[in-house]
Amino acid sequence: MKILIVNAGSSSLKYQVIDMADESTLAKGLIERIGIAGSKLKQTVGEKQYTVELPMKDHIEASKQMISALTHAEHGALKSMDEISAVGHRVVQGGETFTASTLIDDACLNAIKENIPLAPLHNPANLMGIQACLKVMPDKPMVAVFDTSFHQTMPPQAYLYGVPYAYYERLRVRRYGFHGTSHRYIANQGAAFLGKDVKDLRIITCHLGNGSSICAVDHGKSVDTSMGLTPLEGVLMGTRSGTVDPAALQFIMNTDGINIDEMLEILNKKSGLLGVSGVSSDMRDVESAALEGNKQAQIALNMLVRGIKKYIAGYAAIMGGVDVVIFTAGIGENSIELREAVLSDMSFMGIELDKEKNKVRGKDAEISAAGSKVKLLVIPTN
Ligand code: AMP
Repeated sequence: MKILIVNAGSSSLKYQVIDMADESTLAKGLIERIGIAGSKLKQTVGEKQYTVELPMKDHIEASKQMISALTHAEHGALKSMDEISAVGHRVVQGGETFTASTLIDDACLNAIKENIPLAPLHNPANLMGIQACLKVMPDKPMVAVFDTSFHQTMPPQAYLYGVPYAYYERLRVRRYGFHGTSHRYIANQGAAFLGKDVKDLRIITCHLGNGSSICAVDHGKSVDTSMGLTPLEGVLMGTRSGTVDPAALQFIMNTDGINIDEMLEILNKKSGLLGVSGVSSDMRDVESAALEGNKQAQIALNMLVRGIKKYIAGYAAIMGGVDVVIFTAGIGENSIELREAVLSDMSFMGIELDKEKNKVRGKDAEISAAGSKVKLLVIPTN
């Protein structure tokens, strides 16, 4: 069975075709600048690269171009779209409505719309992608896969904020968490790698990329995660601040005379590794600057390391221990230095890193020392 996966943004559309027989990627594409000048499709099939530059006024046009690239006689991966059995759509915010991936019908579309206030930038874009695909492939079964649904198993003490309960009842203000598909995937892959059942393990999954979140996966279920109502909460990220005392924002806003939208722009786009280091949002740049002696870059890295340590120890505490810690995403899979810094001096809780085994990038690997009570793994996300 071949599946088409679509991840639509407001002006972009990423797609992949997966052959479920061996879970290999047959084609991978990115369409950018939809609805603006310079629309472009880039597709990779094996070693073959294919680029199309032509105006795409909306997601419907982009979806048509995706189909013609996928079925292109020379550069495509499919003879016809008949080979595709179903389409999976990434949807960022499923709210409390969706606890699992869901077949898309009118009720599902309405529920995604109802959750727009909780993700005003993402859900409308995801919907555009779904609606465009429904238009150009009306007969294909389509499934919505939510970033939030894996975390719907969190108990109230994990998902509520310490604000009047009425805000939850009236506005559904709560922690939703994100990267759910990634946390679920790497928890299951990690368990399989160890030859165990995820239901027998207490796992802490660290998804560390441009956006980062950490999750406590207790016997297969998410019981806490670091991102909140939005993906801004938690550890320091590329350009996002992570958790900040809200009263600090009032102080900044009053002092500098900026409004809440400007403040959130700063927290989302100008903070994190970029804001603290003053160098870059990209971990590789910050690591190089730190090595060259840049003090702010060193502080930014230390903040990130400290934040991750606090979540690992905290989540071990709420699960009554931890059996496995897993690292994934751009930083988690690749930064040997970051993993070493996070996992050093953690023997008090049974974490012993093997520094030699840790010299690995981007592939499934165990990096814990022989006697480590806690298994430490690198598992590339997918
Ligand atoms: P992602 O959002 O998962 O694509 O991750 C992007 C982040 O991974 C960026 O901060 C990159 O700098 C970081 N990254 C990618 N490769 C490396 C590497 N070899 N060493 C350190 N960080 C890396």
